[in-house]
Amino acid sequence: MKCTRCCGLMIVDHLLDMQESSVPMWMRALRCVTCGNIEDPLIHYHHAVRRARRATRLASHLAKAVARPVKAA
Ligand SMILES: [Zn+2]
Repeated sequence: MKCTRCCGLMIVDHLLDMQESSVPMWMRALRCVTCGNIEDPLIHYHHAVRRARRATRLASHLAKAVARPVKAA
């Protein structure tokens, strides 16, 4: 898999999350060996939701544009 920021190589890494929980929790994520970008499944989920919303807005905008009558000059 390639990094979404720099297209570098992503590797599986185990990260220690010490801020979001009362006990230290290990999580598995992808880390870019070039820029250090970290991606986990939750980040992928949020990106997918954002892309889906953007596609829905675009489809709605295009449907309205197609439905509009063309004005003669
Ligand atoms: Zn990167």
